[in-house]
Amino acid sequence: MAFATRLALRDVELKECTPLFEEKQYKAQLAELSNLITPLLDTEETGLKLDETKCTGCGNCVVVCPVDATVEPDTASGKAARTTETVFRVEDGIVKIINLERCRRFPPDRMNCRVCEQGCYVKAIEIW
Ligand code: SF4
Ligand code: SF4
Repeated sequence: MAFATRLALRDVELKECTPLFEEKQYKAQLAELSNLITPLLDTEETGLKLDETKCTGCGNCVVVCPVDATVEPDTASGKAARTTETVFRVEDGIVKIINLERCRRFPPDRMNCRVCEQGCYVKAIEIW
């Protein structure tokens, strides 16, 4: 978990996880991780769209977003974000994007993160 968080923050490189490269049983995970952390082609958008009309305010996206968990660890246990350092915050029962520049998909160092999209059970978040 600690290594994964540092990898997402680009504090460490994937090659520093030696078992991934040295042990054959991790071949599939290596391929998946390599794809996940390879920067996307540079565009000006994150590709993230939020449809507030579908949002139920469940807060799943706040909890699962790795950025939110990093900048405000309490959000990972379901507590509300208190600063503007998180990507998401639930306000009046609907999630708001309050700091999109924090998103891992934001240029120039874009990553292929889709965790919030996968965590939204009503498909209020879509990433193209
Ligand atoms: S996971 Fe979906 S429904 Fe839940 S707060 Fe986020 S956008 Fe809204
Ligand atoms: S794409 Fe990833 S980093 Fe960006 S808001 Fe969603 S979960 Fe957070």
